[in-house]
Amino acid sequence: MTLDINKIRADFPILETQVYGKPLIYLDNGATTQKPKCVIDKISEIYGSVNANIHRGVHHLSQEATELTENARKKVQQFINAKHAHEVIFTKGTTESINLVASSFCREFCKEGDEIIVSAMEHHSNIVPWQIQESITGVKLKVIPINEKGELILEELEKLITPKTRLISVMHVSNVLGTINPIEKIIEIAHKQNIPVLVDAAQSIQHIDIDVQKLDCDLLVFSGHKIYGPTGTGILYGKEDLLNKMPPYQGGGEMIGSVSFKKTTFNELPFKFEAGTPNYVDFIALGTALDYVSSIGLSNIRAYEDELLEYCTSELMKIDGMRIFGTSDHKSSAVSFLVKNIHHYDMGMLLDRMGIAVRTGHHCAQPLMEELGIEGTVRASFAFYNTKDEIDQLIAGIKRIVPMFG
Ligand code: PMP
Repeated sequence: MTLDINKIRADFPILETQVYGKPLIYLDNGATTQKPKCVIDKISEIYGSVNANIHRGVHHLSQEATELTENARKKVQQFINAKHAHEVIFTKGTTESINLVASSFCREFCKEGDEIIVSAMEHHSNIVPWQIQESITGVKLKVIPINEKGELILEELEKLITPKTRLISVMHVSNVLGTINPIEKIIEIAHKQNIPVLVDAAQSIQHIDIDVQKLDCDLLVFSGHKIYGPTGTGILYGKEDLLNKMPPYQGGGEMIGSVSFKKTTFNELPFKFEAGTPNYVDFIALGTALDYVSSIGLSNIRAYEDELLEYCTSELMKIDGMRIFGTSDHKSSAVSFLVKNIHHYDMGMLLDRMGIAVRTGHHCAQPLMEELGIEGTVRASFAFYNTKDEIDQLIAGIKRIVPMFG
């Protein structure tokens, strides 16, 4: 199916915005995606008609809000094909989901000298929570290296695994290189040794159809704001057995069975991990975002975004002095580059003056930057509302900027 991009663009009010008097060209979708009108409207609809704290009241509104929230959980369950709705935990975002796992998993399963494996291309949010655990539980972090194309070296992963390996935590798609990592293979290797795998799907959930049962991942995390939903929403999916064994992350209301000063018991899944009033209005709107994405179809989205990525990459490569970081044949929706010795920040600032929003800097992946021997890159990242015409303008913009630097 070919997508009707003009119709899709009309669903996103922000795309009408002008920046410095020029039409906005938004190529920073890896950082956050824009919101369709149905999501924006859902938020005000809920505040305007249903708002009441969930799970607490006998009154009508509270029950209605609770039902809508649990319905949103079911939408997430269906979107990733989880076996049970209670395997879907609401969090603030990918970062909180990984912190939850790092804290809870390590407390239950790790002792001094045990090992957690991550990769050299991880976002800080899949590095630092484990480093914090290094100082608390004494676990050691081991790192899967990458090759010159920006791909994980799987033979090295096999060498890193020891009887002390407790978990492998890897990103599905790199937010810098765009590489799609072979998580199916990683899960297969890990499961042969009974090691669970956490997949950071922050950069894949919006581009690639994910079926957690088929994939057989043990844990999977993503952020609602990167899949056209509200900020402040995140998901932790986990297999029921594993989540049942993991202790609570935070204490408070809703996560308890009963509380006394002698003995407190904890609630069952998913509430055990959802202390306090959840961000229910935004989760309901996340459900709307997932409905919207499903109505377009992830396979259609992926095919179209692949076309954009291919087109942008080939046009970038025609520019003299262009260096692209991440040259794998398996990529999704993001291209990182530098031109000659032009600083990424200068390039980003000058593109911004033309109305073109790109990301510059280390993209919260400083260890990867160190590995690449650079400080940062310019990154263009695509969504299905972007067009080839916008890419032409990006390329034209870069071509205007390059001569300014002599
Ligand atoms: N992991 C990856 C791969 C990401 O790209 C990001 C966001 N850039 C995160 C984790 C963190 O997501 P959030 O800031 O929404 O928690």
